[in-house]
Formats: sequence, C-alpha cells, structure tokens
Amino acid sequence: MILPGNFLMGLTTDRSDPGLAAVASCKTCPRQTGPRVFEYVNRPDDGTCDYCGSLSGDDFMARLEAGDVVLVPTDKNYKVYVRNQGGAAFKQTYRTDPGGTLDQTKWVWTTREVEEAKFYFQHLSPAQQERFVELLNAKKIALDFPHHFYRAPFFIKFGGD
Ligand SMILES: [Zn+2]
Repeated sequence: MILPGNFLMGLTTDRSDPGLAAVASCKTCPRQTGPRVFEYVNRPDDGTCDYCGSLSGDDFMARLEAGDVVLVPTDKNYKVYVRNQGGAAFKQTYRTDPGGTLDQTKWVWTTREVEEAKFYFQHLSPAQQERFVELLNAKKIALDFPHHFYRAPFFIKFGGD
C-alpha cells in the first residue's frame, strides 16, 4: 500500500509489533525473539544495537529533532534507512579478523564512519513513537524519494484520529 504524503497519521491501538517480543531493557534488542545465543565480549560500543545494528531510539530521535537526517523509506514496516544530511557521520562496527573461531577474544572489530545507517522502529519507546508521529504530521521529517512511506511503520495507522 502506498501512503500519500498529505494524510495525517495516527498511532495504532496496539503499538507493539505482534511478531516480536517487546523487551524494555536497553541492553536487550527488542528485535530479538529467542534467548540470546551469546554476548559479544569485546565489540566496541559505537551506540548501535549489538544485536541488530540499528541506531538507538535516542540517537534516532535526536537526529530527527536536529533535522540533519533524511529518512529513506523501505518496503518493510519496521525498517528505515537514515542518511546523514549535514550532521555527524554514523558509526558502523564490523569484524575484520579472518573468522573461523568462536573464541571471541580473537575477534577483531573495526569501527568506521558511514553516511547512512539503518533504524528498526522496534527500538522506539511508546513515547518516542508518539513524538515520531507528531514530527511526521508536522512535516518536520525529511523523507527521501518517493517522499512517503511505502508502508507505514507498524505503530502508525493511516489517516489517524
Ligand atoms: Zn536491535
């Protein structure tokens, strides 16, 4: 479904993603549905989720409030790309060792700066979901082509009331 840009959006009644277990803890990714397989022991903290690589909800909202990013819509109702537009670069951390070992003390991580990051909407708190809708309705969120969401984020309903 394509959402025209001029309609007001509202919050859905159930704002938790039904397909995912909502976990409130910041240290635990809300996208993680089963028990955690392992924790990274030496991954540098670059501010992104160490499970799914998403920006944090706080960082995402701060950038929207600052107005120095453009959101790039996807065909997923839980994912958006975030492109830097005049603010600080994002950080991305990845392994640069040859692999082949489960001994994490031998893993080597590198953090680089990138101009585009991903964000999973599961990382928004209910209050942040509300604020996101406010900003969206006030047209304070820059959306890249086609300038509207292909699918509304799962916590948003079209034509809200
Ligand atoms: Zn995550």
